Amino acid sequence: MKWEENVRKVVPYTPGEQPESKNVIKLNTNENPYPPAPGVARRIAELEPEKMRLYPAFPEQTELAEVLAAHYGIGTDRLFIGDGSDDVLSLAFMTFFQSDQPVLFPDITYSFYDVWAKLYRVPYETRALDENFRIRTEDYRQPNGGVIFPNPNAPTGILMGVEQVEEIVAANRDVVVIVDEAYIDFGGTSCLPLTWKYDNLLVVQTFSKSRSMAGMRIGFAMGDPKLIKYINDVKYSVNSYTMNYAALQLGVEAVRDRAYFEECCEKIIRTREQAEKELGGLGFTFPKSYGNFIFAGHERMPAKEIFQKLKENDIYVRYWDKERISNYMRITIGTDEQMEALYRALREICG
Ligand SMILES: *Cc1c(COP(=O)(O)O)cnc(C)c1O
Repeated sequence: MKWEENVRKVVPYTPGEQPESKNVIKLNTNENPYPPAPGVARRIAELEPEKMRLYPAFPEQTELAEVLAAHYGIGTDRLFIGDGSDDVLSLAFMTFFQSDQPVLFPDITYSFYDVWAKLYRVPYETRALDENFRIRTEDYRQPNGGVIFPNPNAPTGILMGVEQVEEIVAANRDVVVIVDEAYIDFGGTSCLPLTWKYDNLLVVQTFSKSRSMAGMRIGFAMGDPKLIKYINDVKYSVNSYTMNYAALQLGVEAVRDRAYFEECCEKIIRTREQAEKELGGLGFTFPKSYGNFIFAGHERMPAKEIFQKLKENDIYVRYWDKERISNYMRITIGTDEQMEALYRALREICG
């Protein structure tokens, strides 16, 4: 077909499987195993269908913006809210990565980055993690068109200290540096305070993991008001209403209940520590994780085989048949019960 010559062809990002069956123990997409804060259910009962007749409010003028800004001790002029952090990151690629120089990110990282780079025709180069899967800060000292990396990194779970993040930001004052903190609440320290010192740093977070709201699609970015203005200008040139009325209302309750949020994160951290012991005892090795997942390989059995056998047992984890990481699988931290079922299955498979 002739018209196909003029079609934009992309290889899309492939998210983890969303199985139909209810019997599956789903440890493959880093969702939170606990429900959102109880206030969310209460607020659902208060949603007004009448309001759905209208276009939703602009996120930056909502109660959600106010409670989020207050929670992080910033002004609303330093906050951008979007339709999940994938929306925020995609807009950030469009807004901030406009140089002819390549944008830099690690070779093993969130696999959406190269998809956006190709989609928006942003030149990019990857920098290899070291043999222990660590980001080498010195790799980000060459001239570039911007830098992006998750901290903790995905899918390794390895956390970089704030000082090392600062090293990268300070070495790249002429471009925008984006730190994707999707998993920062599981034991890491946010580099948010650096945004006061560095106007070229954008910190991105999400409600999908630590706030148990992947299905509501809420993500946000924090940084200098100038960065926020630029990303807003692009957003309002693409779609003025990315966030729906319900998400804007329900997100508020997830932020307000600080105690519930902290308790959920602590539970996941405790389960993760237990998982380290159990998996270690079964012959797995893994870097110390600061996410709600563990990136583990087995000393004898190929990861692909374990992944497939787990699947036959209705336990889904994530596996990438990709260079350097094909002998690892990423296991999301579930409830203690779900994890017990995982250990039982693994004892059968690799015991
Ligand atoms: C999960 C994840 C995101 C995206 O999350 P949203 O659900 O779109 O908010 C972004 N970056 C990393 C590294 C992630 O793991």
